[in-house]
Amino acid sequence: MELSKITKSFTESVIREMTRISRKHDGCINLAQGFPDFSAPVKIKKAAINAIQQDINQYAITWGSKSLRNAISEKVTNYNNIKVDPLKNITVTCGSTEAMISSLKAIINPGDEVIIFEPFYENYGPDCKLSGATPKYVTLQPPEWKFDPEEIKRKFNAKTKAIIINTPNNPTGKVFSREELELIADLCQDYDAIAITDEIYEHILYDGKNHISIASLEGMEERSITINSISKTYSLTGWRVGWAIASEKITNEIKKVHDFLTVGAPAPLQEGAAFALGMKQKYYINLKNFYTKARDTLIEILKETSLKPFYPKGSYYIMTDCTQYMDERGLNNSTELAIDIIKNVGVATVPGGSFFESEEKGKHLTRFCFCKKEETLQAAKKRLEKLRK
Ligand code: PLP
Repeated sequence: MELSKITKSFTESVIREMTRISRKHDGCINLAQGFPDFSAPVKIKKAAINAIQQDINQYAITWGSKSLRNAISEKVTNYNNIKVDPLKNITVTCGSTEAMISSLKAIINPGDEVIIFEPFYENYGPDCKLSGATPKYVTLQPPEWKFDPEEIKRKFNAKTKAIIINTPNNPTGKVFSREELELIADLCQDYDAIAITDEIYEHILYDGKNHISIASLEGMEERSITINSISKTYSLTGWRVGWAIASEKITNEIKKVHDFLTVGAPAPLQEGAAFALGMKQKYYINLKNFYTKARDTLIEILKETSLKPFYPKGSYYIMTDCTQYMDERGLNNSTELAIDIIKNVGVATVPGGSFFESEEKGKHLTRFCFCKKEETLQAAKKRLEKLRK
């Protein structure tokens, strides 16, 4: 029996596979998958526990509990400069992962194309294929990870339905500038396309960088879908609470897809999320300071080795050029590279090839994450000293 041709066209997530492989290697330090190894904020945990005890244990309203939609609406108005009606413009989903696939399914017709910046967060390719779209790639060029305006202009055409933006970016740490977003916004308007923007690292910014939501630019409110979640900002990747913000017309379609995919995100955890969104300014300042220190620690460690790190301006990843290390050890591709680093050093990373359409383009790269305790990074430092120049 022939199973789905679509699912045959992609593999399981390499990022999550690396976590499984690292668990098989005794004592391996997992700097692969982006989840914190420290506790989530106590107050937020208490809010969810209270919700369970108050018996908020049945289905929430499909598109999100009132308290969470109100909290999202307030946050988005103040932080992202986007006007939202909690009833008309928000769909609460199971993480931004579900927000992305529900959004694509809500807008795609057969033959549509979706533009993706490469290297990309690996879900976007399969998400496009599962929703019937053809992904088209625009290159982000190291070390600054800028794109060529001429290339993006060439990729937009009458079949372009959407472009996926991820700022701050995983895996490069790029933060899209206003100028870049304005160029994309103009192209979306010229070609009647939608900007789907994954902003889950919006509070993890360095070196004075600011976050700009493309939906806040002139003419973009009606043609943007802004995706986010509590996973990264509040270190709650396992709660699976996210959301999509869009015009009423688009939201009506996203709500339908979401309803039949998952019915709803976990009800008591939505209450915890509503509490989280009300955290005081100090929380976000501490978060930024914590990650700035972690980034600088890992950068300093990597700079001492034969691996060449690219400096991230946002998110919590460091892409690293391993050409020299691969030559020294006779390695041929990014999977061999990541497995070799696990066996030789005892640190798990994510093979660069998984962030590109073809392995060839990322074969010399590997991605480290630094959303870890200081002691975890220091333990990794001891191991990486083996690779000193
Ligand atoms: N989008 C990006 C860019 C990510 O890096 C990740 C997780 O690493 C996700 C989405 C998944 O987010 P969520 O946990 O909200 O589904």
